[in-house]
This record gives sequence, structure tokens and C-alpha cells, in this order.
Amino acid sequence: MFEELKNRPADSLLALIKAFQADERAGKIDLGVGVYRDAMGRTPVMRAVKAAEQFLLETQDSKKYLGPEGDLQFVRLLQPIVFGKSPTFGQRLVGIQTPGGSGALRLGAELIQTANPTAKVLLGTPSWPNHAPIFGSARLAVKEYPFLDLTSQQVKFESVIEALSSADPGDVVLLHGCCHNPTGIDFTTEEWRQIAELLVARKLMPFIDLAYQGLGDGLEHDAAPTRMILETVDEALIAYSCDKNFGLYRERVGALYAMARTADDIGKAESNMAALARVNWSMPPDHGAAIVRTILESAEMSAMWRAELEEMCERVNGNRAALAAAAPDLAFISRQRGLFSNLAMSRETAAALRARHGIYMADSGRMNLAGMQPADAGAIITALRAEGCL
Ligand code: PMP
Repeated sequence: MFEELKNRPADSLLALIKAFQADERAGKIDLGVGVYRDAMGRTPVMRAVKAAEQFLLETQDSKKYLGPEGDLQFVRLLQPIVFGKSPTFGQRLVGIQTPGGSGALRLGAELIQTANPTAKVLLGTPSWPNHAPIFGSARLAVKEYPFLDLTSQQVKFESVIEALSSADPGDVVLLHGCCHNPTGIDFTTEEWRQIAELLVARKLMPFIDLAYQGLGDGLEHDAAPTRMILETVDEALIAYSCDKNFGLYRERVGALYAMARTADDIGKAESNMAALARVNWSMPPDHGAAIVRTILESAEMSAMWRAELEEMCERVNGNRAALAAAAPDLAFISRQRGLFSNLAMSRETAAALRARHGIYMADSGRMNLAGMQPADAGAIITALRAEGCL
């Protein structure tokens, strides 16, 4: 049987990790893999997470099954952080714990496939490389449209308007809630408002991917577009990841929320989400969600977490400011948000940056701003100039 399979290309970011480790040059800089790094280049376990793990170690008295919905107290406690304290749409939301934001996207895709198999998913590109395959493997048609121009680092808003205006009622629009991956370019408030209007006018359903809340301009600010959209539309899906803002990556912590029109629809969405979870992973892994729940149940641990997340956010924005200050042609980097910016470059140039200068970024030109120190700005800019990127 297996001879029928075709080999798949290796993950180029994982190859980048190995190449960086093997590089013996002292001044090498890793802007490759998409995880937060502190000033020492580490991706530490957050202090609040350690405190919650300690608490769980001492107090958890059973590991019996919870069910396909996972830890519903985790799902409920996350709600005010994502959607605000008492949103008007709050009564119309239902959520389920998922294995990371990826699990939430997959479950949402299957829910769409179950409810409306002919729906197309509109995806602005470039996007996170896993978006199109996740929707495609749930047998949904993905319609890509150019979201922005990398050379000018500007959103092609007319292309967004055109894509939404020519979509069919019931189609789904994938939107990055904040901190766009891979570009760091988010819509302006006015652009979000126009998108909300078009979603209503064209009867389209937003599927908001919120994977970096708190890593752009703070928890409240980063959630504002999501909340505005939910105040405007009737139905929506939200894939949430706690893997970045709690630093829980490998624990796989996320949630899928659905906002429905009526109590009857909420019940249907809920039972279908649970049934789809059951055939995919039966039940989500508990530990990471239990950590987040424990933090959110404790005022003290929550304060620790918020302070640490703010530190992370400030560090990334400080690196953005350092690059922009050192090269006026990179001023756009200080206006972008989240871990990533994506320079327009060929894969040959990305390879030359590695080989000649020890600066590692994805072949696409995506760089992780958490991978540098402010003092590295000069070396990065010298290398970019030498390779003709500036
Ligand atoms: N959406 C986006 C935009 C992402 O960048 C990522 C992770 N890189 C995810 C979703 C998935 O997150 P998780 O690791 O929680 O599955």
C-alpha cells in the first residue's frame, strides 16, 4: 500500500532550525521559526505557567475523561478576555476546547463542510501556510485573493473589497484577528468597518483566526476588530490559540467559538462541534487548558501572566522600533504588529543572507522579530543592504 504514497517536501522551517544550530559563527541571528524569544534567545516557560503547573501538581486528584468539549471552565474563562466583559452577542456564543488554534481551524472547517459543503473559503494571501491545506483537507474550496503587495508593504484593499463583493452568500471569509502572519500588517479600523459592512451586505460568514492576542498592542486592543465584527454580523466562527500568548506551544491549547443566531442554532452548532471533535481526537489534551484555566481562576496568576505578556509585547515592538530607527526604509516595520514582518525577497536572497551573513529567515522573507536583540539592528541592516534588499 505505502508504495502508492508520494513523498512530501520536508518542512523548510525545521530545516532552518538545524542549519542555524550547525552554524558556528558567533554573530548568527535566528529570525526563522515562529516562536517568541526573550533577550537571551530563549523561549521560556512563563512564570504564571510554572505557578499553575505547581498548583496542578499539588491539587489535581484525577485524570479521568472530560469529554469531547474538553475543559469547559477554560472555555468560559477565556471568553471575557477574547470577547469583552459583557458583549451584546455573548448569549449567542458557544465554545469548545481544541488542540491548539490548528485544531480549532480544522474543527471549524469540518463544521462548515457539514452545514454548507459548497461554501467557498476566501483566503487573502500571503497567509499562514497551513490555512489553505486545513480547509482543503476538509474538502472545502479555497479561493485565494491577493491581500497585500510585499514590495510596497501595503494592503491591497481594493482586492479585498473585490473578493468579498464577488463572493456568494454563505461563503466564508478567513480573517486574521490581529498580528497577521506572515506580514504583521493588519487592517485599519476603517478597513475593518468596511469589511464588516460587506460581510452583512453579501451574507458572508467571517472565520476569525486569533492566534496572537496580546502580542500586538495588548489584549484589549488586539481583540477590538474581532469584537466589532461580532457586534455587526449574525453568525461567525472564531479559532483561538493560547499557544503564543501563554507560551504553551507544544501543549496544544485552543478553542473554537461559534456565534449563532438563535438558541436552537447554538444547540445545533454545539452538538455538531462535539460530534466532530469525537471523530477527530475524541477529547482534547487536558494539561495546557488546565494551566490556562488555573491562571485565569487566580487573580494573582492572572496578573503575573498579563505582566509577562506585556513584557513580551514590548520587547517585540522595541525590536521593531530599533530596526526602523536604524534604517528609514524599514520604517514600515515599526507600524506592523505581532512576531512577523515579511520582506519582499527571493529565496536566493534569503539563502545569501544565511550563507554570507549568518542571518536566518524563512525562504519567503518572513522574519520573526522576537529572534533579535535591539543591538542586532545594525548587523541586520548591513546584511540587507549588502544583498540589495534595501
Ligand atoms: N493561526 C495562525 C495565523 C498561526 O500563525 C498559527 C501558528 N503558527 C496558528 C493559527 C495555529 O496555532 P497552534 O499552534 O495553536 O495550533
